[in-house]
Amino acid sequence: MGSSNAQLIYAAAVITMNDAGEIFSPGYLRVANNLITEVGAGRPTAADGETVHDFADDILLPSFVNTHHHLASSLIQGAEPKHKMAVGTVRDGAWLTMSVGLDREECEAGASLGYLQLLESGITTTTDSQSTWKGLSKLDGSITAAVKSGLRVIFCAAFVNKTELVPSDYQLTVSESVAELARLRSTYQNERVTIEPEPLSLPRVTDELVQALHKERNQLMAMHLTYSEEFDQWARKEYGYPALVHLEKLGVLDEKSLLAHPVHFDDAEVELAAKSGASAAYCAVSNMHMGLAIPDLRRYSEKGIPVGLGLDHPNGSHDFFETMKTTVLTQRSLNRDQESFTPLRALEMATRDGAKALKLFDQIGSLEVGKKADLLVIDGNAPELQPPAGLISQVVMAAKAKCVKHVAMDGKWHLFDYQHQSMKPNEIMSHSREVQKRLLESAGIYYGVRGAR
Ligand SMILES: [Zn+2]
Repeated sequence: MGSSNAQLIYAAAVITMNDAGEIFSPGYLRVANNLITEVGAGRPTAADGETVHDFADDILLPSFVNTHHHLASSLIQGAEPKHKMAVGTVRDGAWLTMSVGLDREECEAGASLGYLQLLESGITTTTDSQSTWKGLSKLDGSITAAVKSGLRVIFCAAFVNKTELVPSDYQLTVSESVAELARLRSTYQNERVTIEPEPLSLPRVTDELVQALHKERNQLMAMHLTYSEEFDQWARKEYGYPALVHLEKLGVLDEKSLLAHPVHFDDAEVELAAKSGASAAYCAVSNMHMGLAIPDLRRYSEKGIPVGLGLDHPNGSHDFFETMKTTVLTQRSLNRDQESFTPLRALEMATRDGAKALKLFDQIGSLEVGKKADLLVIDGNAPELQPPAGLISQVVMAAKAKCVKHVAMDGKWHLFDYQHQSMKPNEIMSHSREVQKRLLESAGIYYGVRGAR
């Protein structure tokens, strides 16, 4: 392999996700250093010093962008609501399902387990929203996992100063929050992991905190929006108008806003979001897992609002294919119309629109010359993809995370032939089991390795 990491990759199909929606079958892609230098049709001859990867039966596409998650919660993935009550006895009654009461080591163990599964699902860029708790160094734990994962992470440091979620003695003041954000950035930020502020959600923060954090954002400011009817009603009662209008009045709604869970926006809010240039993160599986409503996504796309997909927690799974497919199914069902939402639309959300939502579309989200070589190769010989028909619909409606064969980020293969090249799955999994056991034992609710029901 040459020093420039020159690679020539052949595939049965290259789904570029570029503006023209080009698909090359067969196709190829050239990489030098961390960037895509060529993409096109056919099988050109290799140049001197180029490493050739012949994925002759496989499907190459841009790796996925996960626009919303709480990765530390992976420590209790798959738990049902009744568990959150039991585990909620830990640390002053914190609602642990949202990873609120986890400490540094628990956050790192849970988030690492999440990153492992993100990569196996073809995701190389993700956000991670984690809230603070004085003295638990939760954010240090979660960011350490982000740095160790080697993936591209926009870490959303979530602050609260007006909530029962974190006992009041353990909430940071406005100035402490700003100082903590600066400390985290100077300690951990690198070329792949960037740290941005998140005033968690309006019911849990003061206006002063929202505005102070807004001043500190570089690339974006994330925030949980009106995910439930209850939230929407709260805002209308508290302010006399919807939550998004309040953000506008505070002067913090703009093109760097990333609105998580835009479920209950009325028409005026959709209009307002579009006018501001804000983007959104929609988490179909998680929202329904929590019994929340399904928004009509056409309302957002008609106004040109970039909406990416997110796994979020609680979800019960890290399979991004499941989230893509579920998005298609629920939109069709909602609209009572099979034509109303295509698999391609979901794939756009998972790639290019997700990149737009994270303000990274100039670098990732499609396979184009000059963009980063963030690549996903799906096994064309997987039983799910036989016989080879309906390329995009098969990728979205039939493929699963288990069909993800190779994944590269910045031209470096992190998963190759189903094998991890950078993460250590056994270490991550055994550590997460050990940490979870200790946590449950300390709460007096450990019933053995498979004791939970
Ligand atoms: Zn969330």
